[in-house]
Amino acid sequence: MRGPPAGPRVLLRRLREIMAEPISAQERLDKIVTQIAANVVAEVCSVYVLRSDGVLELYATEGLKAEAVHHAALRTGQGLVGTIAAEARPLNLPNAQSHPAYRYLPETGEEIYQSFLGVPILRAGRTLGVLVVQNRTHRTYYDEEVEALQTTAMVLAEMLAVGELERLAQPGTLLDLKRPITATGVGLCEGVGLGHVVLHEPRVVVNALIAEDVDAEGERLEEAIASLRLFVDDMLSRDDIAETGEHRDVLEAYRMFAHDRGWVRRMNEAIRNGLTAEAAVEKVQSDTRARLQRQTDPFLRDRLHDFDDLANRLLRVLMNKAHGPTEQELPRDAIIVARNMGAAELLDYGRERIRGLILEEGGPTSHVTIVARALGIASVGRVANVVSLVENGDAVIVDGLAGEVHIRPTADVEAAYAEKVRFRAKRQEQYQLLRDKPTVTLDGQRIKLLMNAGLMVDLPHLAESGAEGIGLFRTELQFMIAERMPRLGEQRAFYGSVIEAAGERPVTFRTLDIGGDKVLPYLRTAQEENPAMGWRAIRLGLDRPGLLRTQLRALLQAAAGRQLRIMLPMVTDLLEIRETRGLVDKEIAHLRRHGHETPEALLIGAMIEVPSMLWQLDDLAKLVDFVSVGSNDLHQFMTASDRGNIMVAGRFDPLSPPFLRALRQIAVSAAASGLPVTLCGEMAGSPLAAMALIGLGYRSLSMSAAAVGPVKAMTCALDAGKVTGKVQALLDDSLNNQGNSIRAALADFAVAEDIPF
Ligand code: PEP
Ligand code: MG
Repeated sequence: MRGPPAGPRVLLRRLREIMAEPISAQERLDKIVTQIAANVVAEVCSVYVLRSDGVLELYATEGLKAEAVHHAALRTGQGLVGTIAAEARPLNLPNAQSHPAYRYLPETGEEIYQSFLGVPILRAGRTLGVLVVQNRTHRTYYDEEVEALQTTAMVLAEMLAVGELERLAQPGTLLDLKRPITATGVGLCEGVGLGHVVLHEPRVVVNALIAEDVDAEGERLEEAIASLRLFVDDMLSRDDIAETGEHRDVLEAYRMFAHDRGWVRRMNEAIRNGLTAEAAVEKVQSDTRARLQRQTDPFLRDRLHDFDDLANRLLRVLMNKAHGPTEQELPRDAIIVARNMGAAELLDYGRERIRGLILEEGGPTSHVTIVARALGIASVGRVANVVSLVENGDAVIVDGLAGEVHIRPTADVEAAYAEKVRFRAKRQEQYQLLRDKPTVTLDGQRIKLLMNAGLMVDLPHLAESGAEGIGLFRTELQFMIAERMPRLGEQRAFYGSVIEAAGERPVTFRTLDIGGDKVLPYLRTAQEENPAMGWRAIRLGLDRPGLLRTQLRALLQAAAGRQLRIMLPMVTDLLEIRETRGLVDKEIAHLRRHGHETPEALLIGAMIEVPSMLWQLDDLAKLVDFVSVGSNDLHQFMTASDRGNIMVAGRFDPLSPPFLRALRQIAVSAAASGLPVTLCGEMAGSPLAAMALIGLGYRSLSMSAAAVGPVKAMTCALDAGKVTGKVQALLDDSLNNQGNSIRAALADFAVAEDIPF
């Protein structure tokens, strides 16, 4: 390491001593500003803390009038201090008074000072306050001094984060760090969750900020970076990572950052100024976050995510930390907060302790959402920057219906939600009363309501919800939570217990729909450019017949002597059904040969979720016993909009005339050939969309367990004849001016007819 300037290090060492002294928070802060002023040879050093009302209050000063402390205040964006807070960037001014934002605070007596250097006090990219030094004479502060002040600001950020300065707040004011925030996103799974934040990728808490031995810290950083680079290079050289593809792009970006000289230089600088290696990583990460967070360009924002990932990884290397909280660390009322996560990662948390889920990304039909819905976890997605707005352990409320998140809620908001929870419980009781009644419309149409499932935890919901069976059993979920490929015996036992738990009610098992965003960590597949349209579902099953045959054998054995319903996902070409039938026949022959009992009846069905199916419905009817419309995928493919990409998921309404006409065509064709048809995509679980589906002719719908009650309440208040007339008129009236969705017109209809939706 190059000869380090001693000043900042001496200062940090001194600060460490001050931090350890048994004195009050105000005394500590006063001592800190005195030390900084002496060290930087400035006449003034002041700390401004950002309050929840957007005001920066003077908390301590050396040099300005003492009576101004806790009185002098500026709004964010006002004056030099307010500008630094708003822009999260230092200001280094030899002649402060000539700056257009300069504003003089008479109570401080600061008019005699010419030069000014201020830096934001940052934590995870968020501004918590401003640290300023001033001198009487014109002087430019050196880069090293700016850097030293930023380093010192970290110590103050830590004091703020641990709550030490809260006690100094004036009665009735709150620090910004503790400010209640209401953030709006998109409701992904209904329900209200009250609990405490658990960051999915927790910021590693750096406790030791100040270095004992600067050279040793430099070496630690060097070693950690070397190991990080090795890791990235290793990932890139793995042969299961294809030449191109999104995953590779991300890794390339990682490599770029890992070798970024600017990044490494800034961290080394922070160490030379007296920080530990981990504190240096955190400081540079926070500065970068503050800079990139203001970017609206999605590409640059993605780079911020890459950068965050890498910095977190580096912190973990330095601190020997494993990933994620352990089960014991999880509070009993955890609200998981993440940028995004895979379905399997959500399943890794114990369901019992999770009250809610908040994502910065996450689309309404992405698989993590489906799993959250299956587990009945109140969820909100697309909450911008939420990861930066919370700290582990913060109180938070998730309102999945309104799509709102209340971070650190005030007592009255909390009380209002507690009331809401009671009200929901009451409504659930009303659904319970409906549970054992048949689902019949006012004009006597029987509607079959089934539920979607995939895990053992879903099964008690069958009886609780009153669903008539399982219309879609996503077998891949069990594979996704397993450490390794489940063996034949394990699969057989699992399917057997599902059938057992369902009793008389039918279960439709869908064969593995892996690929796309449903990855099995133990199954090596090549990275693909377009995984949703790639090697997934039945395509993968037919190319890897060993995998599919094992599953078919397990299902056939589990259903021995009973009815077995098997459904094939992502069918695109009828040949795929013929080939699968061939495999099923082979398995049945195999079982018979070995004296095993086979199912008493076997029904094979296909999902309709690829648009090509629409033009072979008649032929399809000759090959299968039933069909089920996977509206999630069908909609994504018909509108060419990735269901997992927040930029486009939700952009096109499934209640649009073209999509509904396609669904009508399926219902009409199935009815003409006497083919039983169900719809099992997420829209079946929305009472308004379910109403439209009944209007299109659907009489069987499969949905998440929690949706059965509300959809049943809607159905029992509906006149199927009337809604059919309404929907047909809206779709067929070429003069109607409904634009691209009939949602509003249907909602008006429901209100006029007094139908709950
Ligand atoms: C669908 O695509 O609508 C469907 C039900 O399947 P999945 O959501 O599992 O892809
Ligand atoms: Mg699908």
